Amino acid sequence: MTYRTNKIMPTVEGEHDVYHRHGLIKGFDQVRLGDLGVDLVGGGGLGSEIGLSLVKKGVGRLDIFDDDVVTLTNLPRQFYYRRDLFKPKAIRLARNLSKLATNNSIITGYPIQIQEAVEKGLLPVCDVVIVGVDNSDARFFCASHFYDKVPVIFTAVSPEADAGYVFAQEPGKACFGCMFPDEHGRPARKCSGSTIDIHKAMAGIVSYAVDTLCMKRPRNWNYKRIFLSGLMGDLSEKVERDPECQFCRERGAA
Ligand SMILES: [Zn+2]
Repeated sequence: MTYRTNKIMPTVEGEHDVYHRHGLIKGFDQVRLGDLGVDLVGGGGLGSEIGLSLVKKGVGRLDIFDDDVVTLTNLPRQFYYRRDLFKPKAIRLARNLSKLATNNSIITGYPIQIQEAVEKGLLPVCDVVIVGVDNSDARFFCASHFYDKVPVIFTAVSPEADAGYVFAQEPGKACFGCMFPDEHGRPARKCSGSTIDIHKAMAGIVSYAVDTLCMKRPRNWNYKRIFLSGLMGDLSEKVERDPECQFCRERGAA
């Protein structure tokens, strides 16, 4: 299901363009963002907040992949209403986000896993992929499929909902396997604790990382980890490619 939105235009004489404040930020390129195509893998807590940030900021195209349906326990964290219950997340999220878009955006929900979209040739061409799922199969699938094609931003949160990371894999640089060599084959966590707080925090970082990939906003990290409690220090690191990375080797790149 595809939703097309229209840019919000000034209605009062002398009113600023809707993106006036973005234009005051050094390096911000609204036109580039308006041309950007993003594949969003996962329409849960992370995907909801990331999608909201992107459509508010004026992303050109957003394609959402999720084969899950909305359940009652999703409502305190995810961008769904009671009327969305038991309906496909991808389609309902696309619909809900379309109401808050500020630009001419094309938002499509695919109620299938990204793996199936690739198998069926449904995957649209995109500039950036964002992976906010809870299982390493989908993470490694994306790390592999887009390895030498486009940047992939991974994000995940801790079971105590007090910490999270963002890792940006770019072609030719450190991959998801370089960063997390022990993650392969790890089963998905079943029903861990969760609140909206950490999702909002991670979505802001992901959305910023998207900017850095398509315009001249600075980013001196490819791995960033935050701890809401402050009991551990936040991290921003530039992780180098691991010459021993099996994942890179299998792709002939190490
Ligand atoms: Zn690697």
